[in-house]
Amino acid sequence: MSDRRDGLTAAAEYAHTYLAGLDDRPVAARADATAVLERLGGPLPEHGEHPDTVVTALVDGVEPGLVASAGPRHFGFVIGGVLPAALAADWLVSTWDQCAAFHSLSPAAAAIEDITAAWILDVLGLPTSASVGFVTGGQGANTTCLAAARHAVLSAVGWDVERDGLIGAPPVRILCGAQAHVTIDTALRLLGLGAATAIRVPADRQGRMNPQALQEILASGSGPAIVCAQAGNVSTGAFDDFGPIADACADHGAWLHIDGAFGLWAAAAPGTRHLTRGAERADSWAVDAHKWLNVPYDAAMAIVADPQAHLAAMSLAGPYLVADPGQRDSTNFVPESSRRARAIPVYAALRSLGRSGLADLVERNCAQARRMAHRLGAIPGAEVLNDVVLNQVLLRLPGGDDVNRAAVAAVQHDGTCWLGGTTWHGDYVIRVSFSNWATTDEDVDRSADAITAAARAVSPTG
Ligand SMILES: *Cc1c(COP(=O)(O)O)cnc(C)c1O
Repeated sequence: MSDRRDGLTAAAEYAHTYLAGLDDRPVAARADATAVLERLGGPLPEHGEHPDTVVTALVDGVEPGLVASAGPRHFGFVIGGVLPAALAADWLVSTWDQCAAFHSLSPAAAAIEDITAAWILDVLGLPTSASVGFVTGGQGANTTCLAAARHAVLSAVGWDVERDGLIGAPPVRILCGAQAHVTIDTALRLLGLGAATAIRVPADRQGRMNPQALQEILASGSGPAIVCAQAGNVSTGAFDDFGPIADACADHGAWLHIDGAFGLWAAAAPGTRHLTRGAERADSWAVDAHKWLNVPYDAAMAIVADPQAHLAAMSLAGPYLVADPGQRDSTNFVPESSRRARAIPVYAALRSLGRSGLADLVERNCAQARRMAHRLGAIPGAEVLNDVVLNQVLLRLPGGDDVNRAAVAAVQHDGTCWLGGTTWHGDYVIRVSFSNWATTDEDVDRSADAITAAARAVSPTG
């Protein structure tokens, strides 16, 4: 028998060492999964090992395959770091090992969800009567919100989709911006609505849905409709114009969902709040905590203006499950039944930042994006393709896709920072994203130097 505390000291000591080295280690992994497989693979041991031995072996084995994505110079995708309070709280979540499905299984987890939900609605400027489910990510949030949408628009025409499914149901029109995130498609697939049936509303060069086109498409048909808008395009950071979009949805009785995985946090800062104007008029919102709020993976919120639609779509109804009246049964707001107490690190992140700290984080990262755009725009022939309204920078070097691809590979190999490429209007381009509390202006400058050097190294003209 091992002691309950075995392994923890080794893990904590290693965590201190890892975190202390995070600012300095090369950002990219040193090896692919094969190296980790060689160190940790093989048949399942016949006899169990001591927790200290397991922890030590894990730590040694995974090292070459780790990406310093929690560090200050990982600018790929939209990743986010880890606030110390959120990390510590996340350890406690595992220590407490609460099953956060029902109030009866953890009144503590239920209470933290209620408090955190209220804080989130407050800081994002959303209706205080909205309901909040704590899910795994933007994918889970989009799926949950669109399930609520599916319920509401079909219920309005007398169809009970929870009971009768979609076979024989009145058709539902789905309208998405041309630059909607791929997780919207996955959500539509999972919900039986089909990704290819969604009507793509034209978007402008920044990826913003054209509200006039939306209005016209809505007017050209009738019946149940769901509109998916976006706060923060994953390439450009651009925001749809929510006022006219909300007007169009109101005119046609359409449900308005906003995918604001990272961008909705703009509402929490005075310098960026204007970008989200009108977002509070939507019917549902998806927002991540593991990106810009710097909570460890995984955490996100599915927010629905009408709690009845949220509950109708998600609630778990089993005869053996006796609810505590008036208490929060968390499972009723999310696809999962048993689940970790995911709101606790979100609570810790918000409490450690406070309202002003959160606003500072958002504004600081946006300023860093502008600083980086300024530096990279000075590379001869390079072009910053987006209006840097938020935390994203899109860059294209001269010389074509292969040169841009080679530059990304060179930056990753150098290890000072990490960034990735994406396809934008048919071209391979370089994407730089800021969403880490630990990033300093010095990190931006060091990284800009490294990117400039890589660009020079791969330039066909030398
Ligand atoms: C990241 C992202 C998602 C998906 O979120 P996950 O947390 O990866 O599931 C959805 N929409 C947008 C705009 C995103 O940036």
